[in-house]
Amino acid sequence: MLSLYNSATHRREEFHPHDENRVGMYTCGPTVYHYAHIGNLRTYIMEDVLDRYLRYSGYNLKRVMNITDVGHLSSDADEGEDKMVNGAKREHKSVLEIAKFYTDAFLSDCERLNIRLPDVIEPATHCIDDYIRIISRLIETGYAYIAGGNVYFDTSKLDEYYVFNKHSEENLAVGVREGVEADDNKKNKADFVLWFTKSKFDAQELKWESPWGLGYPGWHIECSAISLKHLGEYLDIHCGGIDNQFPHHTNEIAQSEAYIGHKWCGLWFHVHHLNTESGKMSKSSGEFLTLTRLSELGYSPMAYRFFCLNSHYRKTLVFSDEALDNAVGAYEKLLSRIAANLPDGNDMSGEYDRADFEKYKSPFVEALDGDLNTSLAVTAVYDVLKAPISNATKTALIEDFDRVLALDLIKGARESREKIKKSDASAAAAGDDDGEILAAIAARAEAKAQKNYAEADRIRAELLARGITLIDTREGTTYKKTT
Ligand code: AMP
Ligand code: ZN
Repeated sequence: MLSLYNSATHRREEFHPHDENRVGMYTCGPTVYHYAHIGNLRTYIMEDVLDRYLRYSGYNLKRVMNITDVGHLSSDADEGEDKMVNGAKREHKSVLEIAKFYTDAFLSDCERLNIRLPDVIEPATHCIDDYIRIISRLIETGYAYIAGGNVYFDTSKLDEYYVFNKHSEENLAVGVREGVEADDNKKNKADFVLWFTKSKFDAQELKWESPWGLGYPGWHIECSAISLKHLGEYLDIHCGGIDNQFPHHTNEIAQSEAYIGHKWCGLWFHVHHLNTESGKMSKSSGEFLTLTRLSELGYSPMAYRFFCLNSHYRKTLVFSDEALDNAVGAYEKLLSRIAANLPDGNDMSGEYDRADFEKYKSPFVEALDGDLNTSLAVTAVYDVLKAPISNATKTALIEDFDRVLALDLIKGARESREKIKKSDASAAAAGDDDGEILAAIAARAEAKAQKNYAEADRIRAELLARGITLIDTREGTTYKKTT
């Protein structure tokens, strides 16, 4: 039975979807003003494992992700400048141009990391009518008010606003940059903007007509609207990075539940951060590592995925070159151990033993059922390799586990085996070649000893024509290959 930690209740709970076998899962997607950094990608990798494990466990999963291309201000709250507008200025392009460019870059990162694409990917700018409909209803029912041209959500209308962290007025300071003044239009400190027509920052590039004037949506409303549109009023799992808990997810819950009139999401799945040794990795600081940069440095995307899977999603993961190097070494070693256990031929499934298969599969399932313990699930792969079972059964198990781990274990092991074969073959070929050269050197020495200098010169010239230069020294003749 799958159990997962629920950030909203602060406990691990058995997972029961609202509708028996069908699961609706929503994931906060990237804000596409820059490349995703490897911290963002950690979050998407761990969410991908959850997605894959739900499908593996037999659930009929529908997964939805937004792409934030408007309304995400630099503070995460209602102050600062729109991240997309800033990104466009930085690159002297339009907002839609950079949105397209960085969305494509994100999708390509996902592909390289074996992250399954969600069933629906919806850019925020495609759902303006949905925001207007929801906000209109919130105004009608008294949950929202208009002040200074903007529409605000009135958090005092809720019985409980701080869902994730109970006593945290001071959390209101989170994400709000120093020197940014409080918004006087707000009735309560915690109120947040649903629709802007006037922000302190007026350079918004994309604006739409609305009942409240020409403007643009706040960041939080997009996730509520996109989730409700595609997954209905009962959401089973909502995912995101831990920094999204407040204010983003807190505000999503406030407005969604006020709109639908009942509890919205069953389980909140939050992935903790990837930090560098000097602190948090952040996109807005401009100092971050991308997957492309890692590849340029010679690290494969699969090695990075392996690095992430070796730690639990609810623990902060500290990134360092050394830690990644260790993961690379361990991943390559694992592939060569799998390669050594692959049955011969192309038939990877072969005849396997069902009883052994079930026996060695159960620790893998137990690991993931226990709040998605991916490092224990990786350990189950090592245990299979050590087990007294046939190679066909080992391969079938590893192939099965890799439906969730998605580490290209069999493909990578085959490639590793091919590489070893090729290098053996070229070493053997080089060996033959060397033997032949040594024989020619010996024949030349013999010719010289016989004072047959013409023959000795002929041998030297013949070798030279093949790119082999002979070097006569007092200790004897050596050679060097020039081509
Ligand atoms: P963003 O593109 O900034 O909206 O963030 C995309 C996702 O990455 C969100 O779910 C964030 O919570 C998450 N995230 C941001 N920074 C980190 C980090 N350093 N480590 C892991 N996840 C992060
Ligand atoms: Zn979101």
